[in-house]
Amino acid sequence: MKSLRETSVQFLKGVGPAKNKLLANLGVATIEDLFYVFPRRYEDRTSITPIAKIKLGEMQTVTGKVIERGGRRTWFTKKHVYETVIDDGSGRLFAVWFNQPYLEYYFKTGADVVLYGKVEIYKKRLQMIAPEYEIINPDDANLNIGRIVPIYPLTRGITHRYLRKIIYHGLERYQDDLKDILPVRLRNKHRLLNIKRSLENLHFPETLALQEEAHRRISFEEFFLFQLSVVKRRMSMVAKPGVEHKIDLKLINEFTKNLPFVLTKAQQRAIHEIAGDMQKNAPMLRLLQGDVGSGKTLAALFGCVAAYHNACQSAVMAPTEILARQHYENIRALLAKGAFKDLKVALLVSSITLKEREQIIQQLKNGKINLVVGTHALLSEGVDFKNLSFVVIDEQHKFGVKQRALLSTKATNGRNPDILVMTATPIPRTLSLTLYGDLDLSVLDEMPPGRGRVDTKFYSRESAEEVYKIIRTKVKEGLQAYIVYPLVEESETLDLKAAKEMYQHFAKKEFKEFKVGLVHGQMKRGDAEKVMENFKNKKINILVSTTILEVGVDVPNANLMVIEHAERFGLSQLHQLRGRIGRGSQNALCLLIGEPLTEDSKARIDVICSTTDGFKIAQQDLLIRGPGHYFGRHQHGLNELKFANPITQIDILELARKEAMELIHQDPNLKESENQILQKEIQRRYPTYLEMVEAG
Ligand code: ADP
Ligand code: MG
Repeated sequence: MKSLRETSVQFLKGVGPAKNKLLANLGVATIEDLFYVFPRRYEDRTSITPIAKIKLGEMQTVTGKVIERGGRRTWFTKKHVYETVIDDGSGRLFAVWFNQPYLEYYFKTGADVVLYGKVEIYKKRLQMIAPEYEIINPDDANLNIGRIVPIYPLTRGITHRYLRKIIYHGLERYQDDLKDILPVRLRNKHRLLNIKRSLENLHFPETLALQEEAHRRISFEEFFLFQLSVVKRRMSMVAKPGVEHKIDLKLINEFTKNLPFVLTKAQQRAIHEIAGDMQKNAPMLRLLQGDVGSGKTLAALFGCVAAYHNACQSAVMAPTEILARQHYENIRALLAKGAFKDLKVALLVSSITLKEREQIIQQLKNGKINLVVGTHALLSEGVDFKNLSFVVIDEQHKFGVKQRALLSTKATNGRNPDILVMTATPIPRTLSLTLYGDLDLSVLDEMPPGRGRVDTKFYSRESAEEVYKIIRTKVKEGLQAYIVYPLVEESETLDLKAAKEMYQHFAKKEFKEFKVGLVHGQMKRGDAEKVMENFKNKKINILVSTTILEVGVDVPNANLMVIEHAERFGLSQLHQLRGRIGRGSQNALCLLIGEPLTEDSKARIDVICSTTDGFKIAQQDLLIRGPGHYFGRHQHGLNELKFANPITQIDILELARKEAMELIHQDPNLKESENQILQKEIQRRYPTYLEMVEAG
C-alpha cells in the first residue's frame, strides 16, 4: 500500500486535474502535504450573533441571506464599491467592499452567507467594511459555521470552503493511514496527542485548548526531528579525527603583543575558547557571534596564526570580493611587523589573473601559502591544500550549509580542520544554543574602547535638501560620506537605475565640487574593488552605493552615511549598513531619508534611531517581523522549520532538544526498530545536514 506521502491529492473526491494544479501553488501534491497545510489562524464561529444583538466595534460572526447587492463606482475617486444587504430575520446589515469588482459575480441574491468583521454605524445603518465572507452550501455548512474555523493561506482559485472540505474528507477517509513517528514513550511522557487527534484538532479544533495541544504536539515533532539531525551531525563530526594543535600561553602572548591595540576582554575570552578547541583531537565547530565592529577578525586571525605555528594552513572565506580583499589587507597589515611576519598570505578571488590563480593553487598544494583569504572561489574544483587545519567562514548566513561543509573537505591530509563560523547577526543566547546546537558558541559582547558615538536622525523626503547641506559641510571638513540606495530583489534593475541616476545627479550637479564614486553589485569584475580602493585612499569623497556595502566594508575616515528610502530596508540591514561608520574615534552621523508608510516601517525607523545595540535591535526585529524573515534565506536552521516558531515556542524547542540528545545518546544511529522511522524522516527532511556527516 502506498503511504500518504506518495498518494496524490487527486485521489480525493473533489480534486481534479485543474484543482490539482492550483493546489500545487500551495505546495500541495500529496495527501500528506494537504494535511500539513497549516491554518494561519482560527475564527471562533461557535457563536453566531443575531444582527439585532450586534455590538458595535467588536469582531463578530453573522449569517444571513443576501437580499440586495450591487456594484458601483464612486463618482469622485472612481473607486469600485460593492455592497450587499444581509438579512437574518432579526435585522439587516450592510457589507461593503472596495476595489474587489469580482465580488459582483460571487454573491447571488438569496444565497446564505457568513460574514466576519467589525460592525459600525454609517449613515444610520449597520455596516461591516470588507468583512471575511463565505457562501454557505447546505452540504458542508457544518464545516464553516457553528465551530472554530481554520483560516488558511490561500492561492487563486482555492477558497477556504474548498480547502476545509477536502481536508475534512481527507482526514476522515485516510485517518487509519496516518503514521505516528513520535515514540510512544515520548508521547506519554510529555502528554502529546497522537498524530490523528493532532491533525484533526489542528484543522477542526473541538475547543481552542485542544487546538493548542495539537499545535504543541506538531511543533514538538518538528523541533525534535530537526534537533535529532543537528545533534546527530555534531556527534559524528566531533567523532572524526581532527588536528591536535599545540598551543601555549607563550603563543597567545606573542600574538597579542604585536597588535596595535589591546584586546577586549571578550576577544581574549574568544581566543582562549578557540585555543582550547584547537588543542583537542576532535574538530572544532564554533560560532563566533559579535556585533558589527566588535573585532571578530582578530579572534579568527589568532586561529590562523595557531595553525601556522603548527606548520599547518588556514583559510578565511568571505561572501563578497570586497570583503575578502579587506580581510586580506587587514590581516597583512596586522601581521606585517612582529613574530608572524613570515606567514605567507594569499588572496584567491575570481578577479585575479589566471596566472596568479594557478600560482596560488600550486602553492596551496605544496604548502608555501600558509593562509588564504577568498570568496566562493576557494570552493572551486582544483583548489586543494597540503594540510589545512583551520577554516574561518565569515558572515556564515550568506553561505548555504553545503558550501560551508565543502571547504572542510578540502583538507587532503585526512584530518578534519577546525571550523570557526562568524556572524554579526545577533540572536538571543538560548535561541542560538538550541538552533545552532551543533556549534559551540563564543560571543563578543563588548566593543573595543575609544569608538566614537553614532547619532542617527530621520528626515522626510521633503527635507532631503537639508541632508545634502550637511554632507556638503562635513565633506568640506575632510570627512567622507556614503549615500546608500536599497536594492531589493523584486526590482533590482529599477533600483539600480535609481542609484545610477542619483550618482549622475550628485556628480554633475549637487556635489560637483567633490569627487563622487559609484559602486554596485553588477559592476564588472574588479571595478568595484578599484572604486573602494580610491575611496579608501580618499580619492573619492562621496561614495554612492547599493547595499553591497552591507557586509564588512571598513573605511575609518568615512563617518557620514545617508540611507535613502530607509523605509525599505530591514532592521538588521540598517544596522549592518550603519556599522560601516563610527569605526574610528570620531563621532559619526547616520541620516535616514524616507517615507515610512506602514506601521512596521515606522517602528523600524524608531528603533534604529533610538539604539545602536545590535542585540536590542535583533530583539525588536524579531518582534516586528517574526523570525522567518529575520534570518534571511540561507541562515542555517531557522528556515528548515516550517511550522514551529523558535521564538515563541522556545520552551518546546528546549524540551525537544533534550529528548533528541538523550535518544541519540542511547541509539546514535537510530537503528532500534522504533527509531528507524525517525532516521528515515530526518534523512528526508534535512538531507544537507546528514550529507555533511558523510562529506565532512
Ligand atoms: P567585525 O566584528 O565587524 O568583523 P572587525 O574585526 O572588522 O569587526 O574590527 C573592526 C575594527 O576594529 C577593525 O578596524 C579592527 O582593526 C578594530 N579592532 C579590533 N579589535 C580591536 C581592539 N581590541 N581595540 C581597538 N580596535 C580594534
Ligand atoms: Mg567582519
